[in-house]
Amino acid sequence: MGHFISASCTCGYSNEHLSIGGGMLTFTTVCDHPAYCAAGRHVVAVNLMEQPITCPEGCAGTPLPYCKTPSLQIKRGKGLVSDWDGLKINTGLYKCPRCEAYSLQFHEKHAYFD
Ligand SMILES: [Zn+2]
Ligand SMILES: [Zn+2]
Repeated sequence: MGHFISASCTCGYSNEHLSIGGGMLTFTTVCDHPAYCAAGRHVVAVNLMEQPITCPEGCAGTPLPYCKTPSLQIKRGKGLVSDWDGLKINTGLYKCPRCEAYSLQFHEKHAYFD
């Protein structure tokens, strides 16, 4: 049910393995989506069903989910990288947690998990 996307920035930062959605057994309690973690300066998949949202790597602060934070995107892309229950990631430019420029892009990966 869920799938993976990757993120990469012109500064060299990348994360090849970001999960989106939930698995067959966990979809009522888990909805992963990529988020901007300022404390760790990385993109992490956080569980949107969890309150408060926390970084799975234990960083301080609250990671900001890209799909719910319009200020993390400067240019909207025409294509969709992911659409999970209306939570969309498009092909535009997002803010990179590493260099803080709007040059991070998400890419679709044809990998699924259940
Ligand atoms: Zn973090
Ligand atoms: Zn960057």
